[in-house]
Amino acid sequence: MSEEKTILSIQSYVTHGYVGNKAASFPLQLHGFDVDGVNTVSLSNHSGYPIIRGHRMDLQEYETLMEGMRANNFLPGYRYIITGYINNADIVRRIRDTVKEIRTLREKEGKKLTFFCDPVMGDDGIMYCKQEVLEAYRELIQCADVATPNYYEASLLSGVNVTDMTTALQATDWFHAQGTQNVIIKSFRTKEDPQNLHFLFSTMATGGKTPQRFTGVVPYHEGRYTGTGDLFAASLLAFSHQHPMEVAVGIAMGVLQDVILATRNEGGDGTSSLMNRELRVTKSVQSLLNPANVAEVRPM
Ligand code: ADP
Ligand code: CA
Ligand code: CA
Ligand code: CA
Repeated sequence: MSEEKTILSIQSYVTHGYVGNKAASFPLQLHGFDVDGVNTVSLSNHSGYPIIRGHRMDLQEYETLMEGMRANNFLPGYRYIITGYINNADIVRRIRDTVKEIRTLREKEGKKLTFFCDPVMGDDGIMYCKQEVLEAYRELIQCADVATPNYYEASLLSGVNVTDMTTALQATDWFHAQGTQNVIIKSFRTKEDPQNLHFLFSTMATGGKTPQRFTGVVPYHEGRYTGTGDLFAASLLAFSHQHPMEVAVGIAMGVLQDVILATRNEGGDGTSSLMNRELRVTKSVQSLLNPANVAEVRPM
């Protein structure tokens, strides 16, 4: 059987810049994946800019698309599902049905489905979705194989305020209790070590009692970047296709370091305009495939 490199990628689309499917598709395609995008929104740019125009999908539109995919028998062909920005509680809830449907179709053929859920809800203390979206994610997470929250989303979902390793560990325990096997809190900054961002990967074998934990650091670059989590989740999926998850975590961290450095080298430092801080995704082909700054991932 030929290797299945097929992805259903449910994320945002922006005309200008690199977030959502714009940040994820190109890297995944470079790795040889077929990326079938469901664009949950189609907007002029990401929401950090003062003006934003465009269209947001509603449940009916999502269902119409799925109807077409079902009728053409595309659904059993997806080896992976990845979800990003949705910001619509009805669609978040319906994706649970989509995951179950595809999983059941594939199980009949003895094939696997791996669901990467990036629960996009906010960042650095600012929630940019409604409370009902948060509630819907608490349920969607139950069928995720891999969850990639940022520290703020991990806090929102688990109810544990993630500020250091102790609280990060507690938050990952909440995910495992919901049935999520792999959780990566992509970064958190501690008082003791503000020059670095720490990350935590926690994995629980099916039926296991104690999770295995891995951690590491990447240097913190002053300033805020958008699309980093989307590029991280896509890279994680790509590298986990060939490597154990803990190895993939370190390489995906490396991709982000390389791409952020490339962005800064081209004028996108922390104080520059939002436009200058758009991640240099298409200019970083080498880094997307084989990053220079792979992070060390240590078992705890
Ligand atoms: P999100 O973009 O979803 O909020 P993070 O902020 O954790 O998620 O960013 C994802 C990854 O991007 C981090 O794991 C880290 O590797 C990298 N990253 C993001 N912002 C920075 C930064 N300011 N300095 C260094 N690395 C960063
Ligand atoms: Ca496509
Ligand atoms: Ca962030
Ligand atoms: Ca994010």
